[in-house]
Amino acid sequence: MALLTLKGIGKRYRQGEVEVEALHGVDLSMEEGEFAALVGPSGSGKTTLLNLIGGLDAPSQGSAHLNGTDIAALDEAALSDFRLYQLGFIFQAYNLVPVLSALENVELVMVLQGRPAAERRERALHYLRLVGLEQLTDRRPSALSGGQQQRVAVARALAAGPRLVLADEPTANLDSENAAALLDVMHRLSHEEKTTFLFSTHDPRVVERAERIITLRDGRIADDRRVTPDHDH
Ligand code: ADP
Ligand code: MG
Repeated sequence: MALLTLKGIGKRYRQGEVEVEALHGVDLSMEEGEFAALVGPSGSGKTTLLNLIGGLDAPSQGSAHLNGTDIAALDEAALSDFRLYQLGFIFQAYNLVPVLSALENVELVMVLQGRPAAERRERALHYLRLVGLEQLTDRRPSALSGGQQQRVAVARALAAGPRLVLADEPTANLDSENAAALLDVMHRLSHEEKTTFLFSTHDPRVVERAERIITLRDGRIADDRRVTPDHDH
């Protein structure tokens, strides 16, 4: 069974008198362990699609199943649990808590998950090491570079043990060197941890690291192909 199955999923936004059809009945499935880029021009529906999969927004039509669960059928409480245990989110603005250290930021989701303190600490240190930040665990976000902050966000997402990590333009605020390095970290983790990643991007250096490239155009999938990623840059 596929990890993620979207069937005819669509989204219409209403703005006053105007209706925008952001997604038109998209079908998509992803297998466990895939490392996929979602590309397409601005306004093509990338954020909308990620938000529907993440249960951050409700579809106007169609369904999204993750790991057998119909996301739109969950009530508020079940949906927050679902997000907490099944999904990892990485945003372009990092979304770290400014008054917490890198280590505390990574531990925070695991506090909500009710994991014991020792396990939280161990997992947080493990993932911060995997993203290469073992020397910087006590720093607050303001004392870290953009690339380092985003690596904290990756560690935070992975430490919670999600089935699927959704990332909306995770490298948008990084220079291309940091963007490439971040993708290499994500790619390594996806292989070592068998975690599935779906990330939207505009950045060609990010796209070339994907194993699958899904192209949206005007709210439809215009292309979907598996590729051999290029890591020699
Ligand atoms: P992308 O992330 O690829 O740039 P989006 O998913 O943000 O695309 O947007 C897809 C379309 O939906 C665009 O036409 C956008 O203007 C519209 N849209 C997105 N969010 C909203 C909203 N909250 N209200 C109205 N229209 C929206
Ligand atoms: Mg977007």
